[in-house]
Amino acid sequence: MTQFNMPTVGEQLRENGISRRAFLKFCGLLASSMALAPSMIPKLAEALEKATRPSVIWLSFQECTGCAESITRAHSPSLEGLIFDTISLDYQHTLQAAAGEAAEQARDEAMQANYGKYVLIVDGSIPLGNAGYSTIAGVSNLDMLKQVAKGAAAIIALGTCAAYGGLPQANPNPTGAVAVADIIKDKPIINVPGCPPIPVVITGVIAHFLAFGLPALDHLGRPKAFYGQNIHDRCYRRPFYERGLFAETFDDEGAKQGWCLYKLGCKGPITYNACATTKWNDGTSFPIESGHGCIGCSEPGFWDFGGLYNPVSLPSSLSSQHVVFATGIGVAAGVAIAALNKQAKQQAKQTREPVNVDQLNREVQL
Ligand code: SF4
Repeated sequence: MTQFNMPTVGEQLRENGISRRAFLKFCGLLASSMALAPSMIPKLAEALEKATRPSVIWLSFQECTGCAESITRAHSPSLEGLIFDTISLDYQHTLQAAAGEAAEQARDEAMQANYGKYVLIVDGSIPLGNAGYSTIAGVSNLDMLKQVAKGAAAIIALGTCAAYGGLPQANPNPTGAVAVADIIKDKPIINVPGCPPIPVVITGVIAHFLAFGLPALDHLGRPKAFYGQNIHDRCYRRPFYERGLFAETFDDEGAKQGWCLYKLGCKGPITYNACATTKWNDGTSFPIESGHGCIGCSEPGFWDFGGLYNPVSLPSSLSSQHVVFATGIGVAAGVAIAALNKQAKQQAKQTREPVNVDQLNREVQL
């Protein structure tokens, strides 16, 4: 127990019957998905073991419940469920048993008991056009956000709607939808975009917060560990892109051969997310592997930033690479890019190494 007599994450896990071996395996997978060096796995395990179980208040505003579905429908409770078993989810419309006044009372009590320490998760955008567009217990989303954010240690803006406005903000934005960061300016905000976000990314961000505090963020407030590279750089169809081999329709020979989907509107070159590495449904697949281009759902401006089936304008660096490869000239540039590709493959291999649980058992004294 901690000085506040709260169970630590490790104590909670043991109480839930999670074995040390399963925990270490989980930490290994988590570290791998966060692109942490293997040497960080024992540190992650130790920090998670000692972390205090946090109170989490989850507010849902203008959203479709896809973000909650994403985390709750994960196919690997031993992975995603592990972390969610370790937090105290004190308020969440969709998941909690309480309803009506009892639910709001639970939120009030959690806020008072953990003032200044709880984590606030928000999914959905906030309508500024009219306070009545979206309310909870008669309170506008705007007022509810301000009220609950005041006592939060940090805010996780979950999903593209909360992070950047998302679908509700798409032209003509009838509700005047804005993002959490447009309203709250005095709290740390971690944007976890995606429509919806990848379950293991959600749990990875929470795990990082528990173990090490706020993760390193990029200029759009996203954790670099998960959003540091674009889909294009990790896409297994990239060799076809480099050779200028593109599917022209969804059922042509190129599509059947698995060629690049750029000409079918793939937004992979401008989309930063972990889909190509962590994938979905327990690492089974991701949209491009299923034959459809990336739709850029985790970027600001989604849905408006480009027609689904219109190719995006590539950054000049990518365009020139493509021209070089497609025309078969520029050997020096080709060699340089091939080296970069090799390096990327090596990095990918390093970060996806299988976890040696027995070795970890020897290294970590929990
Ligand atoms: S354009 Fe899309 S399908 Fe083609 S390599 Fe890039 S991410 Fe993959």
